[in-house]
Amino acid sequence: MRVADTIAAVATAPGRGGIGVVRVSGPAVHAIARAMLNRTLQPRTATLCDFVDGKLRLLDKGIAILYCTPHSYTGEDVLELQGHGGPAVLSMILRRCLDLGARPANPGEFTQRAFLNDKLDLAQAESVADLIDASSEAAVRSAVRSLAGEFSDRMTELTRALVDLRILVEGTLDFPEEEIDLLDRNVATLKLGALRASLAVVLAHAEQGRILRDGARVVLVGQPNVGKSSLMNRLTEEEVAIVTEIPGTTRDPLRYELAIEGVPVHVIDTAGLRAAGDPVEKMGIERAWREIRQADLALLVVDATIGLSPTDEKIQNELPENLKKIIIFNKIDLLSNDGNARAPGQSSKVWLSAKSGEGLDLLRQAILREIGWRAPEEGPFSARERHLHALREGAASLERAAKATGALELMAEELRLAQQAFERITGKFSADDLLGEIFSRFCIGK
Ligand code: GDP
Repeated sequence: MRVADTIAAVATAPGRGGIGVVRVSGPAVHAIARAMLNRTLQPRTATLCDFVDGKLRLLDKGIAILYCTPHSYTGEDVLELQGHGGPAVLSMILRRCLDLGARPANPGEFTQRAFLNDKLDLAQAESVADLIDASSEAAVRSAVRSLAGEFSDRMTELTRALVDLRILVEGTLDFPEEEIDLLDRNVATLKLGALRASLAVVLAHAEQGRILRDGARVVLVGQPNVGKSSLMNRLTEEEVAIVTEIPGTTRDPLRYELAIEGVPVHVIDTAGLRAAGDPVEKMGIERAWREIRQADLALLVVDATIGLSPTDEKIQNELPENLKKIIIFNKIDLLSNDGNARAPGQSSKVWLSAKSGEGLDLLRQAILREIGWRAPEEGPFSARERHLHALREGAASLERAAKATGALELMAEELRLAQQAFERITGKFSADDLLGEIFSRFCIGK
């Protein structure tokens, strides 16, 4: 256990609420509790207390709970003060804790301490933030799975198998090549094959978890009057729409937030693209292009009664070449017959009617398919780009190791690198700046 100072923060969301919680963690917790509550607390017992200031004036009346090290969220002594959920009263309670020797906690610092005290590994700590940020039921479920240790357990299993293999390979290294038992070489090859197969499964799960966590950025393009707004209204009405407030000027592109099968889809309407006018508007257009360059998928809406016109083609050609695209032929309710237009089997084209709703399901499926979502049989665990990067790096090392079975030293080195990559995920092998980066993105009080 590391000796640290004492931190305090309001742990509940800002604003008014029934109750609000101030959390304190560190060695000064007992002294703070005694001074502020004017009594001693039984650990893990909710106790109705007076919270008092230095002159014994009442600040609030609430519930206090004391957790003693190591049986707490952070692993340190922790005090939770549940007062009334108003910003002024909570800030007075917090200030009293600071006067008594605590300092304000940094974002994520409670969870960082939990990690440093081995209460959670890094993947679990990250899933705490993912759980708080989750915007759909599916995202919540996958974050909870990671928090419960499913992802970490898989990584531990992979690492164990890898260490097993390293022992075999490094054990043979001390002997001259000719003495290495052929059997050992075959066993190593078999073990390596099994390990690569297990890794591929974990990687596929993590990829789905990453999509569930981050969702996909989709840009909506098309000429005026083809039905873009109607389409979005229709989609947001039918999906659980999560409205987020996005800061910026009114000239920012319009955004819609959908959840298709629980996968967050952020649609950015870049309708104002071609209307270059005053400087503010120009900034808006630059922003729209930035969105397009960062997007995972473009939806190009065209009028099915006209078909893909030269103007539509021009818009299509302006889009980055490597950006995935779905062409949506809208207003099929106006077509007299289905004709050739609805030729099946073209994954990047969808025919629908925003007015009647026909074909909308095909669009949802096409979006999910294009962004790489395959509803997994087992639930995915939440994962981040950082995890995928480490897993892919590990996979590349194992692939090189597989090619080096004839040169055991090379193989041993690749296996060592693969283990390092795996351990970066759970935080066993992490640089301090990575930890700083991860925890600074948490909210304060977590
Ligand atoms: P936007 O400028 O691309 O956003 O297009 P709007 O959503 O404002 O639609 C332009 C016009 O087309 C409106 O009069 C809509 O009612 C109409 N419209 C949109 N979608 C459909 C559709 O699927 N069928 C028919 N018949 N009309 C549609």
